[in-house]
Amino acid sequence: MSEIYDVLIIGSGPAGLSAAVYTGRANLKTLLFEGWQPGGQLTTTTVVENYAGFKDGIQGTQLMAEMRGQAERFGVEYVSKDITKVDFSGQPLKVYVGDEEYQGKTVIIATGAKPRRLGLPSEDKLWAKGVSACATCDGFFFKDKVVAVIGGGDSAMEEGTFLTKFAGKVYIINRTDNFRASEIMLKRAQDNEKVEVLSGKAIDEVLGDNNVTGLRLKDTQSGEISELKIDGMFLAIGHIPVTDLFKDQIELDELGFVILKKNTMTSVPGVFAAGDVSDHRYRQAITSAGEGCKASIDAKKWLAEQD
Ligand code: NDP
Repeated sequence: MSEIYDVLIIGSGPAGLSAAVYTGRANLKTLLFEGWQPGGQLTTTTVVENYAGFKDGIQGTQLMAEMRGQAERFGVEYVSKDITKVDFSGQPLKVYVGDEEYQGKTVIIATGAKPRRLGLPSEDKLWAKGVSACATCDGFFFKDKVVAVIGGGDSAMEEGTFLTKFAGKVYIINRTDNFRASEIMLKRAQDNEKVEVLSGKAIDEVLGDNNVTGLRLKDTQSGEISELKIDGMFLAIGHIPVTDLFKDQIELDELGFVILKKNTMTSVPGVFAAGDVSDHRYRQAITSAGEGCKASIDAKKWLAEQD
């Protein structure tokens, strides 16, 4: 019989690691599953300027490394593998990595969200061959090339502006004439001489055999088809919660986000959630960290009530 942890935390973004700092410091025996991309979405960004406490900003990777080290100092243990299954049907709660079983009295789900895709076969075929969802990771490969960023939100503006450091030309393509981006970020992108913003265009197909060579666009008003030559396409069309593993275990809403029943507790007693996995409104590092803190306090209180 394996050891029973007080808290199993799934996810290593700001929510999971902040929860771990609190549970570790509260002397709760804590095991955190880091997953395939330790540190979550912040490791794919550059400087974070709006996390309070860093006057000059801090690199996303550094912020996450600091949080990880801080939790480790309080005795939190890590498993650097993806979980494959959970069983929340009774106590102790169980989390699996293949055949390995881990047991916990409580679980904090902090699996975050992953980039949404267009859902085109050509997008899959050319993934990592010119199609990417991370400008910070892949922008470097497009020095003096032509790239397109898909989306009309703040992410698209941010990624588009960032890519002008490398690319010779950046198209930002929004499917409607309404931009979700904040005015200031839209203007910053529009004012950049390397950026051209196209609106009312949907992506009909990503063109190319071994590498991206262009896009087939469809005008969303007239239906007119046109082609645009590009070398790379960056998706910035929002995120979807990472909850597939939990769908038969806890209640999710119609978009797949975890439903919180009482404070941070899910529909299963002892199972809590924090961060982007249960929040489609704020989605900020600092709000996720705050929710991680709340989930750890709720878990601690719940454990005390069971004794
Ligand atoms: P948003 O949900 O704000 O925007 C998503 C964009 O993608 C919309 O323009 C949407 O179009 C479009 N889209 C969605 N699905 C498709 C599709 N299948 N095909 C084509 N286009 C599609 O997501 P963001 O990631 O941009 O931002 C999320 C949150 O993070 C926001 O609150 C934002 O403010 C914040 N953020 C803040 C930043 C900062 O302050 N530095 C930087 C980045 C993000 P439609 O409107 O038609 O649905």
